[in-house]
Amino acid sequence: MADVRARIAENLERVRAQIAEAAARAGRRAEDVRLVGVTKYVGVEETQALLDAGLPDLGESRPQELWRKAEAIQGKVQWHLIGHLQRNKVQRTLAAIPLIHSADSLRLLEAVQQEAEALGHVARVLLEVNVSGDSTKHGLKPSDVEPLLPHVAALSHVRVRGLMTMASLTGGRDQARRDFARLRELRDRLSDACPREVSLAELSMGMSGDFDLAVEEGATLVRVGSSLFEGIGE
Ligand SMILES: *Cc1c(COP(=O)(O)O)cnc(C)c1O
Repeated sequence: MADVRARIAENLERVRAQIAEAAARAGRRAEDVRLVGVTKYVGVEETQALLDAGLPDLGESRPQELWRKAEAIQGKVQWHLIGHLQRNKVQRTLAAIPLIHSADSLRLLEAVQQEAEALGHVARVLLEVNVSGDSTKHGLKPSDVEPLLPHVAALSHVRVRGLMTMASLTGGRDQARRDFARLRELRDRLSDACPREVSLAELSMGMSGDFDLAVEEGATLVRVGSSLFEGIGE
């Protein structure tokens, strides 16, 4: 496990350097990009190693796995739920006080409102947008975001902080860059019309294969899994 811990720490340093280089290319500050370490491929020990190496933002795509790790990990973590959330899993998920990147319907947001109010806190969410139009993906259609904003603004215990997307599965890095640019343009277009209660400041986009492009296109949160666990075997 000592080897594994050293390798994870090295990987973290490398990914952070790549983020800083991409930020510099775009004239942005590296501090304005938050790295979320996606731990869905690994167990509790490797997740703990990533936290201990200095990464407090950890993401899981399955709610049950987030619950399990949130119980087992020692130390202060900001959890991120990056995968689909069903309404019957909202209550246990909110207990970990995560940033939910994957809010994709008013019905889900109403369930989040109800549970957050019962818990006495305000849930922070990003609206997931399917910019690529890929039918296998979750997420709102770009044209559905604007009409949703007044409804979410009315939810007292839900705070929208921005938008999230996943790049197309096909088309490679060029297509990924176009998808990221589309999310940023959508955000810029909506910003003026945005209700006071809603912020679209955060853009969650970019994974291991394309986080550098996402940073160049304005990501404030990148979700990186495989690159952080490279070389540790299975
Ligand atoms: C798995 C996953 C990631 C991380 O993917 P890697 O390519 O391993 O970096 C990012 N975002 C979402 C939504 C994911 O499901």
